[in-house]
Amino acid sequence: MPTTQDANHWSNAIAHIDADCFFASCELVRRPELIGSPLCILSSQDACIVAKTYDAKAAGIKTGMPVWEAKKLMPQATYLPADFGFYGLLSEKMFSILRRYSPDMEIYSIDEGFLDLGGTRGLWGKSYQGIAHDIRKAVHREVGITVSVGVSVTRILAKMASEYHKPNGVTIVPYSMIMQFLERTSLSDITGIGRNREALLRQSDIHNPVDFINSEMQIIQRLLGKAGTDLWLELHGKSVMGLELHLPLPKSMARTASMGAVTSDRKTITSHLTRHTTRLATALVNKRLLAKRLTVFLKLKESCSVSAKTDFEYPTNNYFRLSHAVQQMMGDLYDARSQYRACGVIAEKISEAEQSMPDLFGHMKADAKQADLLITVDSINKKYGRDTLKMAEAFSPPSSRSNVRFIYPTITAR
Ligand SMILES: [Mg+2]
Repeated sequence: MPTTQDANHWSNAIAHIDADCFFASCELVRRPELIGSPLCILSSQDACIVAKTYDAKAAGIKTGMPVWEAKKLMPQATYLPADFGFYGLLSEKMFSILRRYSPDMEIYSIDEGFLDLGGTRGLWGKSYQGIAHDIRKAVHREVGITVSVGVSVTRILAKMASEYHKPNGVTIVPYSMIMQFLERTSLSDITGIGRNREALLRQSDIHNPVDFINSEMQIIQRLLGKAGTDLWLELHGKSVMGLELHLPLPKSMARTASMGAVTSDRKTITSHLTRHTTRLATALVNKRLLAKRLTVFLKLKESCSVSAKTDFEYPTNNYFRLSHAVQQMMGDLYDARSQYRACGVIAEKISEAEQSMPDLFGHMKADAKQADLLITVDSINKKYGRDTLKMAEAFSPPSSRSNVRFIYPTITAR
């Protein structure tokens, strides 16, 4: 363990900045009269809680909870519908402030980002602690929301550090303090250790992060595979999960999988395609990318496949638009007499959302609104595990191309 290094040993300096109850804080910026009273933000369809203030959380209200259940717990709270357009604006503002502190920034989600602060102490003439406080104060002053900042030598430690003193806190974990820091955390605080992994670790007598790093790497590898060894190295202060900076544009992005058993059932295939489309649209929205072309393919039992493609009038990452095209293509491709074993969707002719914005503003605005839904679903799933929320397979299969009926999918909680 890193006990021989001096307290200021910074092989790397990564900051994780995380806005506190972001959606609720955004509302308080324009509704200051609500400050100090509990506030819950509702999903697009007003069905469930997507964010809440700390006092609502203390009353037992959880993200993803149906609104009627929350109202039973806290009838006196204010319940507001989400306005993602507004949250998006404040998010942009926050990231533009963060960018001042380092050009090497990764936007992780609408309210979280990483900064590579390596070498910036000389520039600012301050410690990392001083820089972290400056960031926190600048965001508060200019956006009106609070953020928590963690700085450490690896990505995972920085993320855990930002969680440590929430809200409005700064936590600095230099190399030599890793052990002391981990002693005050629990397994569930490790980013990437969900309930299943935690149970697995506990079965092997690993009950806390200190047990985790004191275990042989081979044991972690056996239990959790490569994801586990990456975490093990990161918690030892060895950076193996760098930041995603300046990514080159992908030529294509695909979401495909085998359907398990061979099937001719149209509903089954449609539900797989819905899942792939949701994941593809979420990935595009998160990376702020648009696609001009979408391909659907169905792999037949005999190892050959059929595919169809749609070229959109303008580049999009709109779930509904993509999904509608997928349904139409599925209608063209599907043959009840065939047996299928895999399916997938592929986005091509990819461009950056920002660059398409000016001339397509009218369309983009409508698309942005629907991208919000995906951001909500994604942020809940990132927090509570994949597929906590997903798009329901609410499609009736069209009987012919001319009779395509499009039904907006609803969100279902697991
Ligand atoms: Mg946050």
